[in-house]
Amino acid sequence: MSGANEAKSSATGARRGPIGQAAYAALAVVAIFLAATLKFDGYTLNILMQAATYAIAVFGLSVVLGLCGQINLAQAAFFGLGAYAVGLGTTDAHMSFWICLALGMAVSLLAGALLGASTLRLGGHYLAMVTISFQQILTLVMINAIGFTHGPDGVSGIQRPSLFAHQQSYLAFCVGVLAVVGWLVWRLADTRLGRAMRAVRDNELAAGVAGVDVYRTKATAFAICAMLGGLGGGLFAGGFAYVSPDQFSFAESVVFLTMALLGGVASPIGSAIGTGLLILIPEWLRFLKSVPGLYLAIYGLAVILIVAFMPDGIWGFIAKLFNREKPAPAPGAPLKLSPSDAGGVNVLETDVLSKHFGGLKAVDGVDIAVRRGSVHALIGPNGSGKTTTLNVLSGLYTATSGRVTLDGRDITKLPPHRRTAAGLGRTFQNIRLFRSMTALENVVIGAERPGNALVEGGGRAALDQRALAALDFVGLASRANEVVTSFSYGHQRLIEIARALAANPTLLLLDEPAAGLNSTEKKSLHELLERIAASGLTILIIDHDMTLVSNAASHITVLNFGKRIADGESMAVLRHPDVVSAYLGAE
Ligand code: ADP
Ligand code: MG
Repeated sequence: MSGANEAKSSATGARRGPIGQAAYAALAVVAIFLAATLKFDGYTLNILMQAATYAIAVFGLSVVLGLCGQINLAQAAFFGLGAYAVGLGTTDAHMSFWICLALGMAVSLLAGALLGASTLRLGGHYLAMVTISFQQILTLVMINAIGFTHGPDGVSGIQRPSLFAHQQSYLAFCVGVLAVVGWLVWRLADTRLGRAMRAVRDNELAAGVAGVDVYRTKATAFAICAMLGGLGGGLFAGGFAYVSPDQFSFAESVVFLTMALLGGVASPIGSAIGTGLLILIPEWLRFLKSVPGLYLAIYGLAVILIVAFMPDGIWGFIAKLFNREKPAPAPGAPLKLSPSDAGGVNVLETDVLSKHFGGLKAVDGVDIAVRRGSVHALIGPNGSGKTTTLNVLSGLYTATSGRVTLDGRDITKLPPHRRTAAGLGRTFQNIRLFRSMTALENVVIGAERPGNALVEGGGRAALDQRALAALDFVGLASRANEVVTSFSYGHQRLIEIARALAANPTLLLLDEPAAGLNSTEKKSLHELLERIAASGLTILIIDHDMTLVSNAASHITVLNFGKRIADGESMAVLRHPDVVSAYLGAE
């Protein structure tokens, strides 16, 4: 994806200020009013009803795919669950429409959460496959469990609530639900959960390390998506009084997905546009139906052209035209770094820590003890196991054997986000930022670390202040609202450091922070590291720059072929004959 496209994704989510909200509310009221009062013929009414109920399900996809980046090819199945709950509930079971609607949503939510929980660890193509299987199974049940679902004949005579017995008042009700759901989905992007979803979408590894419970976030996104599918389907059943299995087939799931992608998956506005278009285009092309195949060919071509020339969908394209960056807010108080001082002399201890990849012993029985308040360097030739050690420390890899304790607490088995909550912060050798977000949003996610006492209870304002202070600390506060991809490589490094600092970690792990920087950038990085160290924060740093290491670090551990070959006070270690030969041998 190009930088410009990424820059846009956040723009589509941008307009959530008071004016945007007022405009949205006004638009919603007008739409509900028109739906209730305009005189529609039966044909138009059906199209509007379909569009309104479909759009609710597509909003679900804008959560799971747009915000969280997970594919769901079973939205029609969830739509069907809701539709059959209302269909069978109001006819065979003689229950109230509202109870059936709620039941359908609950069943979809549960099915979505279960499907998510059982498969999201797979991710990617596997997830797509599993959702397709789920879709197929549900279709088979609808068709074949004739005693329960009425089979291919479908369910007819579905009841509408007496309050909205008239078709047009029911349409107005559906438009109202659509407006409320759209508003919630729109606002979601700016909540803690929404930020977590976007972080997972942009960079799953970095999200975990920044404190996001990746697995739970994905499952939640999936459950919300499924629930909205169920809601849309339940309303659909009430609207058409008849449902049958072919309305909820795999092909319909693909239509839902296309609707989301066509309009622009990053925003519910895009979802609404896409839904409307995909319902209308076939109607517009109706006159072609006399020539078999032509209609589908033109329809397919139109969709391909739109998606090809507007990779972020129609709304993504429009939003980019209107994107104006907000000026950066002024930073308040300077950054406070007050890590926990509980525990003993050592912040971090590893005990014969090993990580093997098959036969390769990348880390082989390494002991490291990082003293509180010190700068500790981890050095060694390329491939000696430094990054692997950091990955085992931060939980990206599980240790093959050995133990890691942070502040006296055994964290060997914890997932990344819980280690972060326990006080671990880190940066990556190959920068891992959330690329569709602004610098400020990136750092806010760091500041949001569970257990960061400095912002807890302070709400969004405290988070923003904390994040701004961290950006100010690295000298980038004035560009807080720029998308991270517009920053130079060196500045992206600084944003990553700010993200880690905003979390107020007890121990900061830095993996080759100077790699790829030019000499000016290196100099200011050195100065920055000195300021961090002066605050008393404990740092474990990997670097190749011996001047940096010998100046900054009081203690050095040297790895070679995964083994610790030297450890101790800096000057002594650097003169150690094994170290000298490891480095000369590696050259
Ligand atoms: P360093 O950071 O010291 O340059 P690394 O920790 O990245 O070294 O790598 C140590 C060794 O482990 C290398 O031989 C590398 O190829 C290997 N390695 C690292 N990650 C993996 C992985 N995920 N799978 C297999 N081998 C790996
Ligand atoms: Mg490395």
